[in-house]
Amino acid sequence: MQIRLHNTLTRSVEPVVPVNEGEIRMYTCGPTVYRPVHVGNLRSYLLADWLRRTFELFGHRVIAVKNITDVGHMRQDAVDRGEDKVIAAALAEGKTPTQIAEFYEGAFREDERRLGILPATFYPRATAHVGPMIEIIERLLARDLAYVVDGAVYYAVKRFPDYGRLSGNVGEALRQGVRTEVDPNKRNPADFALWKRAEPDRRALVWDSPWGPGYPGWHIECSAMSTRYLGERFDVHTGGVDNIFPHHEDEIAQSEGALGHPVVGMWVHGQHLLADGVKMAKSARNTLEVHEIEALGLDPLAFRYRASAGCGRARPPPPTRSRAIPALRTSPNAADPARPSPGRVRKRRARPVERAPS
Ligand SMILES: [Zn+2]
Repeated sequence: MQIRLHNTLTRSVEPVVPVNEGEIRMYTCGPTVYRPVHVGNLRSYLLADWLRRTFELFGHRVIAVKNITDVGHMRQDAVDRGEDKVIAAALAEGKTPTQIAEFYEGAFREDERRLGILPATFYPRATAHVGPMIEIIERLLARDLAYVVDGAVYYAVKRFPDYGRLSGNVGEALRQGVRTEVDPNKRNPADFALWKRAEPDRRALVWDSPWGPGYPGWHIECSAMSTRYLGERFDVHTGGVDNIFPHHEDEIAQSEGALGHPVVGMWVHGQHLLADGVKMAKSARNTLEVHEIEALGLDPLAFRYRASAGCGRARPPPPTRSRAIPALRTSPNAADPARPSPGRVRKRRARPVERAPS
């Protein structure tokens, strides 16, 4: 049985051809663990779970890696400003960054369990992989794809000819895609930080490096952990559409730039979850968390079932407080087949998942 998926890189539906026959090695960009996740975040992980269960249904062994971002920036511009969300949360809650990260990683794993998402084979933490990140940065410097300025290291995107291929952000689109507030150390506004020099008052989450004390940019962790756990060529990389640029564009530039060959066989991205017509996000104040679904007396699997109606690249029906709570109320019975008793789940999930991302 040939499984075909929509590959974001080629913008076409292609057969999945694993590097090792009978085995799928897949990487999913995981959470930044400084606050609870909402079901909009979890929808990306549902997509990965549908894919994984489908691969397994058709006889593949799956090695699934989901990273835990515990050095706490969500966006590269926050890195550029030296903001660390784990440190900020720790200060606000009177805890250490490690305590914050461990607490929210545990909460995330529990939310996944409640949605029937199979645990990843590995959940590598960024803070435990700074050495491999430094190694990749050194390779990029050796290949003249990066430069050092004042204790920081930047990727020179103009030196990587394929930069922009995943997102389509090239030329004017790239200029518009990068933020307007430009770090004066960058040679080009589109360049991005691989390593940042630690600010003098930064006490936590600082590492020694060949360029002095500092901390990694966000994107480099996924290049380091994906290739470390899955090898220099692996089959599927998933994430939300908001990861396409800059995060995955930069991951390709880093991984392929360091290794000199393609690394990911297929890029699969899930659409945003809409709530009242807009993307579910903390900033939009329209989020819903798993425990809030339960507090309403509803089964979290009702959300899983509703989300499956629009899985893959389609935008699923909005589970908002105003409109979708009634919809979820009608779903628990329908959600029963989604309960993770493996045989039933796999049979039920097979056909819709295979079709979904196309
Ligand atoms: Zn990532």
